[in-house]
Amino acid sequence: MTATAEAPTAPRDVSAVVAALRVTYESGRTRPLEWRREQLQGLRRMLVERESELLAALATDLGKPRAEAWATDVGFVISEIDHVLRHLRSWARPERVWAPLVTRPAKARIVREPFGVALVIAPWNYPIQLLVSPMVGALAAGNCVVAKPSEVAASTSAALARLVPKYVDTDAVAVVEGGVAETQALLAERFDYVFYTGNGRVGRIVMEAAAQHLTPVTLELGGKSPVIVEESADLHVAARRIAWGKYLNAGQTCIAPDYVLVSAGLEDRFVEEIRRAVFDFYGSDPKASSDYGRIVNQAHVQRLAGLLGDGHATIGGAVDEAERYVAPTVLQAVPADAAVMRDEIFGPILPVVPVDGIDAAVEFVNGCERPLALYLFTASRSVRDRVLSGTTSGGVAVNATMFQVAVPALPFGGVGPSGMGAYHGKASFLTFSHAKAVLRKGPKPDPDLAYPPYTARKERLLRRFL
Ligand code: NAD
Repeated sequence: MTATAEAPTAPRDVSAVVAALRVTYESGRTRPLEWRREQLQGLRRMLVERESELLAALATDLGKPRAEAWATDVGFVISEIDHVLRHLRSWARPERVWAPLVTRPAKARIVREPFGVALVIAPWNYPIQLLVSPMVGALAAGNCVVAKPSEVAASTSAALARLVPKYVDTDAVAVVEGGVAETQALLAERFDYVFYTGNGRVGRIVMEAAAQHLTPVTLELGGKSPVIVEESADLHVAARRIAWGKYLNAGQTCIAPDYVLVSAGLEDRFVEEIRRAVFDFYGSDPKASSDYGRIVNQAHVQRLAGLLGDGHATIGGAVDEAERYVAPTVLQAVPADAAVMRDEIFGPILPVVPVDGIDAAVEFVNGCERPLALYLFTASRSVRDRVLSGTTSGGVAVNATMFQVAVPALPFGGVGPSGMGAYHGKASFLTFSHAKAVLRKGPKPDPDLAYPPYTARKERLLRRFL
């Protein structure tokens, strides 16, 4: 069941789409592990067989370099599917738990069952990964899924709407294209789970809509992910890893390094290392490099251009609106209250802010909203411990950027304004599963102990064995 780009699903049709999936869910068809595995294998085949169509769509939408697009959108999800296929049987096995004496003889188990019909809403920046990876979790857990790609990455949305139905059970999976109106029509329906990735403003709309049906949500949001570069860090390696994480997908990554807090004495050397990294990666004219992406649309180019005035662009600073190009940029001398230090940048602009030692850096981070990711570059164990225990974030990478998401056994998600809930690997399976508590007893024995009339002796025994 698909609404294509040429004929988006009209709001009134959305109820029929959801109702049809619910019939499938109630039939029990999605419960067997074999059915779930077939769906995941189908999505995997789609990614392998249709790779060139998918990469072409990503190139149209975001000018994604081929290797980057494969690694972060296509290959990423293939690895996720392989990981889930490898472990699904053991994750789905009921988990036996201890039963206290007063309940015995009895068997207590946690049975993971699907919620029912799930809604997955994706953004545009990794438009394949961020739609298909949550679908993998939802299907692995035995749910039906309505998948809503982002209209902002229009070519990829159209490609997914065309391709997904060719590879999965269309009675259980529907791709619904569209923008605000279509998403709000979907949100008015009763789903059993809503999984949203995108900005916090819409996250609030999603949560409010889900609240009307008391539907549980996962919100994968964004924010400003800080980087701390401490005195003992290897500056050359730190700069390369930060520049890579920042300028990948032209900075349009939810866990991209947003700004750098660097020990004051190192600022200039650090910026020179970033300059070298940018040159090594993209040459003297990044605009001409086939390895540097583009901004998704003109409105975002204008937004980013507006941020350039918030500091002194010591690297980059060039903008070509017609080509949706914003150069890899470093801003220095940025006032603390500038917009570029308040809002998530979501583009290739890196403010570098000098701080007076590690305590000042930790204080700075704690003065801001809890981030999705925090990056620390240091060779010191005590600094690492100080930052890990003194800050809260969705995730942390030490002496690296972004790679925390490439470990499927690590849950990925935010905390506070950067999101709630987590996914990837087992966390995805658990997110999309209801943990049903099951206690099983036989008819005998059936002692009087728990029944009225309560006597002093019964109370004594209860106090001892409960
Ligand atoms: P977007 O504009 O594509 O919006 C996301 C989804 O919400 C889309 O499917 C869109 O159709 C829908 N939507 C937009 N406005 C809506 C409305 N008023 N009502 C209902 N639905 C609506 O993407 P975006 O929000 O610009 O994405 C960028 C943001 O997402 C950044 O803040 C980024 O940090 C965050 N993000 C988070 C993650 C993560 O995994 N935590 C990943 C990527 C992006």
